[in-house]
Amino acid sequence: MAAHQEKKLAEERKHQNMQNDTKTSQGQWGRAWEVDWFSLASILFLLMFAPLIVYYFIMSCDQYQCSLTDPLLDLLTGNKHLSNIWNRTPMLTYRAAAIYSLWVTFQVFLYVSIPDFCHKFLPGYVGGVQEGAVTPAGVVNKYEINGLQAWIISHVLWFANAYCFHFFSPTIIFDNWIPLLWCANILGYAVSTFAIIKGYFFPTNAKDCKITGNFFYDYMMGIEFNPRIGKWFDFKLFFNGRPGIVAWTLINLSFAAKQQELHGEVTNSMILVNVLQGIYVLDFFWNEAWYLKTIDICHDHFGWYLGWGDCVWLPYLYTLQGLYLVYHPVQLRTDYAMGVLMLGLLGYYIFRMTNHQKDLFRRTNGNCRIWGKKPEYIECSYMSVDGTKYYSKLMTSGFWGWARHFNYTGDLMGSLAYCLACGFEHLLPYFYIIYMTILLTHRCIRDEHRCSSKYGKDWKCYTAVVRYRLLPGVF
Ligand code: NDP
Repeated sequence: MAAHQEKKLAEERKHQNMQNDTKTSQGQWGRAWEVDWFSLASILFLLMFAPLIVYYFIMSCDQYQCSLTDPLLDLLTGNKHLSNIWNRTPMLTYRAAAIYSLWVTFQVFLYVSIPDFCHKFLPGYVGGVQEGAVTPAGVVNKYEINGLQAWIISHVLWFANAYCFHFFSPTIIFDNWIPLLWCANILGYAVSTFAIIKGYFFPTNAKDCKITGNFFYDYMMGIEFNPRIGKWFDFKLFFNGRPGIVAWTLINLSFAAKQQELHGEVTNSMILVNVLQGIYVLDFFWNEAWYLKTIDICHDHFGWYLGWGDCVWLPYLYTLQGLYLVYHPVQLRTDYAMGVLMLGLLGYYIFRMTNHQKDLFRRTNGNCRIWGKKPEYIECSYMSVDGTKYYSKLMTSGFWGWARHFNYTGDLMGSLAYCLACGFEHLLPYFYIIYMTILLTHRCIRDEHRCSSKYGKDWKCYTAVVRYRLLPGVF
């Protein structure tokens, strides 16, 4: 793969310095330079309320059996005051601080100190040193892909402790869930604040920085594109994947252990959530090299949105189903459970195949077969900020001919399955599908806006051929 990429890059660089008159329209891709009032209002809203939203969800499980309405009713009717709720909230503890510091330090150690060995014995797995996409300034970063190995080591140690060593209880995460939330927030804010200071004063690559001059926007969306410490510690790759995503499956296992402890059994709904989300997480690490080409890594700058989001939002809100099932141990009818499993697996299949088709297409520069045929595509070109012209292709075959983001559709089907596994008694476990629908629809529009400024008229040709975004014939 590396050899192929080098060849492709060499071909692309043949076109270097070919200026053309579309430069101004197509040279501005990447995140916004100017902040409109709507973006600013959304950012201020998120900066103020996102931590409260996370707290509200977790508190409502802790104090109100996961009811989202009861805390509000209590407050509105004067039955309780904010201070009553706050006083019952567990505070930061030394124990939680120690657990969290140990966890993050261990993940940093696994990330920087153990070069990938999985690719040496796992056929088909792409690990070790890999190249990312070309940045707007024309830089190609190298990454050490060793997330699968970090995930395996972390889980082997977890099971070794649970079944052999018994150093700590597998319910440890659940038992410290709110104190750990304060730790995650401290890290999330610390890393975002460090990122903006670093962006202003000692950026890794000044040409890939964007400073809008609006402090809140820059803090939220980030200044630096790929902040690094040293040659290999890449903030985006580390925080995007670990400690949050490695922890995701461990958090679910801890919730399952707590359900066993409290109710004497692990329900089929809890198993479903563990299995379906486990597949999603494993898929993430199996395809970590491919994730270098996704929007998070190759288009977003590193700010609060990624830094705090990866530390707090992801581990706390993506795991709500497991948390809910600790309080409500739902046992599903077998046919219903099978239906949910099928929906989850079908969603995963669509998600994976769509992503795979684009990856194969881009890796082979279109010299591949999609559904048994040579893929169809639209040729397109774009400029980096230094005026270098690059060529690319937008595929119109396979799932990419059905809709412009059918991978999101598969992701949404899988997300719905996690929620359906929790039954219909409460709204809280459905937060995930509501959030993912908003996130992915917004992301789709954001991506298309970016692609439109990147590819100009070529993007228009593409959207004329593939007319729908998520659902053919509907949207
Ligand atoms: P995509 O993997 O869909 O990447 C979009 C990019 O692909 C575009 O910017 C463009 O990049 C390129 N592209 C678009 N159309 C085509 C085409 N027809 N042929 C070839 N290339 C094309 O988006 P994401 O990075 O957002 O998502 C990756 C996966 O991650 C998705 O499956 C998504 O569901 C999942 N995801 C999950 C999240 C979660 O929180 N669980 C959050 C976000 C994503 P270029 O500039 O290279 O042309």
